[in-house]
This record gives sequence, structure tokens and C-alpha cells, in this order.
Amino acid sequence: MRIVVSGAAGFVGSHFCDRLLAEGHTVVALDNFLTGAAGNLAHLSGEPRFSLIQQDITEPFSIAGVVDAVVNMASPASPKDYLEHPVETLAVGSAGTRRMLDLALEKHARFLLTSTSECYGDPEVHPQVESYWGHVNPVGPRSCYDESKRFAEALTMAYHRKHGVATSIARIFNTYGPRMKLDDGRVVPAFLCQALAGAPLTVFGDGSQTRSFCYSSDLVEGLYRLMLSDERYPVNLGNPREMTILEFAERIRRLTGSHSPIEFQPLPEDDPKQRCPDIGKARAALGWEPRVTLEEGLRLTVEYFRGETAGALKA
Ligand code: NAD
Ligand code: UDP
Repeated sequence: MRIVVSGAAGFVGSHFCDRLLAEGHTVVALDNFLTGAAGNLAHLSGEPRFSLIQQDITEPFSIAGVVDAVVNMASPASPKDYLEHPVETLAVGSAGTRRMLDLALEKHARFLLTSTSECYGDPEVHPQVESYWGHVNPVGPRSCYDESKRFAEALTMAYHRKHGVATSIARIFNTYGPRMKLDDGRVVPAFLCQALAGAPLTVFGDGSQTRSFCYSSDLVEGLYRLMLSDERYPVNLGNPREMTILEFAERIRRLTGSHSPIEFQPLPEDDPKQRCPDIGKARAALGWEPRVTLEEGLRLTVEYFRGETAGALKA
């Protein structure tokens, strides 16, 4: 297949491109490098089935030739990034998603949207199941991301219902792994960098809020299966092993052998208190569930972060 991927230079996008190429597909990658980096795709520069175009998908663009699938991953994803770029975040979820859907419509291609567990907001149903409509503050600081993704989901369903586009929607829960930016503010890079530098681990609030962490290769497997499936309604993709952020901080300290103290800092506004995916639908519809344990995933991620921090120190 020939597949157009937006947001390809980001953390998830770059791993997804690797997987598509490994499966024998041809990839046309689009990115404006707002939060991603061409360096994440540098290893593909000699690959004849891969091309990278610098393109803001909120602006008009066209792709020549056959396209079999359109994958829309472009969007700032870390709270630090979307709080810094709220307007760009709303624009890419709305105008950007529309341009990607128009491309799928024009080319008679299937379409995959990477949505998010943030569609559930600060959830009152736990674990979160796809049929839950969510509890989102529409005017809070996180609304630029949450509502952008909720709009993107609505637009995707509209193109399916009105135009018959073969669409799929992944609701991704917290995912981590190599190629996350060291300074993107998300809890995995934050704690790992702090632990490796012997700096205090910054736990927001009292650390009783929960998350569950999915390793990048597991997510990519779920996305790949979903892209090829006939499932039209949202599917949760994430790891259901839930823990408090304080427990997570302690785990990182143990894993890295760090003596970093814990430093409690204020909880950001509207920070969801609990989050854990119900993955029953992904199991049934895709035969998918995560395989990589937290210990193994963190070991691989620590290895990457050690390399990156050593490189940063040398530079
Ligand atoms: P990321 O920031 O590493 O990647 C996003 C990419 O989109 C970047 O390369 C960025 O430059 C690009 N981009 C942003 N605006 C663009 C625009 N207008 N035109 C072209 N490119 C643009 O984030 P990520 O963690 O890789 O997330 C990828 C996708 O998965 C996002 O849609 C995100 O919402 C979703 N997601 C990720 C997670 C997670 O835990 N990583 C969780 C939920 C949802
Ligand atoms: N968090 C934290 N310290 C940090 C960064 C994040 O305690 O340095 C917390 C944050 O408040 C949230 C959780 O870790 O409760 C996950 O945050 P992240 O930014 O990774 O993603 P979110 O799940 O909020 O989108």
C-alpha cells in the first residue's frame, strides 16, 4: 500500500513509519516539525519507499498518484506542547483533519485518526470504555487539545456517514518509549531525565492520580491492526496496568538506581484524577493486547534516554 502519514516526525509517527516500511508499504510522510523533528526519521533517508515532505496540514497541499491509506497523527500531544500552542492544536485537529479526510475522500483511501483518552476528560467512569461520552471542561486550559480531538472524531464520523470514507479512530492512552523528546514535559521523560541527572522527581499534586503506560511497539501494533480493520467507531489502545504517579516515581527511582528525592509541585488545572483503558473492544475487534511489560519497556526507554542525555552533555 502507499500510505500518507501526517505527524510522521513525532514520537509515535516515526515508529509507525518504521512499521509500515517493515511491512513492505510505501510511506509519504508529512510534518511541519512543530513538536517533532526530522532527526526521528533520519535513519530512513536512504529508503526508496520513504519520502518526507515539510508540510503544515492546515495549509492546502496535494499528493500526486495513488494513495491507499491516510493516517492523521499530526497534533501536539504533550500538555506542555499543547498549552504552548493552543491555537495550532485546535487548527490541526479541525482544519488539518479536514484536509487529511479530503485527501482520503479524493483518493478512495482508508483513513485512521489518532485520537486520545483526553476525549474522556477527567472521567467519572472507570476504567474508560468507548461508550462513555466523557467529562471535559470545554473552556479549561486542556480544552484546546480535548475539544480539538473530539471535533476531529466528529468530523471523521461525518466523512464516514456522509461520504462513505472507510475511517477508523484510535483513542490512545499514555504511551512512552524511545524518541520521546527529553523536555516534552510528559511524566515519563520528565522522571527519567530527573532520575538520570540525580535531580528531584517532580510529582504534581499528591501523586494519587493514576495513569497506565503503554510501550510504543505495542501501540504501533494496535494502530496497524486498526488501520486495516473494518472497525468504524473509536477503539481504546493502551495498557490497562494502572498505578498512581507516586508509585510510578518510586518505580523509576528503583529502575534507574537513582537517589533523587521526590518534590511535590502543584497539580495542573483539570489534570485527570484517574485514567485506565478498558481494552475489551481492542481485544475482541483486533485480537490486540499489550505484550511489553512496564519493566521491559522502561528498560528500553532508559537505554535510549541514557544515550540522548550523554549526547546532550557532549554537545
Ligand atoms: P509528537 O508531538 O511527538 O508528534 C506529533 C507530530 O505532529 C509532530 O511531529 C509535529 O511536528 C506534528 N504536527 C503538529 N502540527 C502539525 C501540522 N499542523 N502539520 C503537520 N504536522 C504537524 O506527539 P506523539 O506523542 O507522537 O503523538 C502522535 C499522535 O498520537 C497525536 O495525534 C497525539 O494526539 C496522539 N496521542 C499520543 C499519545 C501519547 O501518549 N504519545 C496519547 C494520546 C494520543
Ligand atoms: N506529572 C507529574 N510530574 C511531571 C509531569 C507529569 O506528576 O513532571 C503527572 C501529571 O500531573 C499527570 C501524569 O503525571 O497526572 C501524566 O502526565 P503527562 O503529562 O505525562 O500526560 P497526561 O496523562 O496528563 O496527558
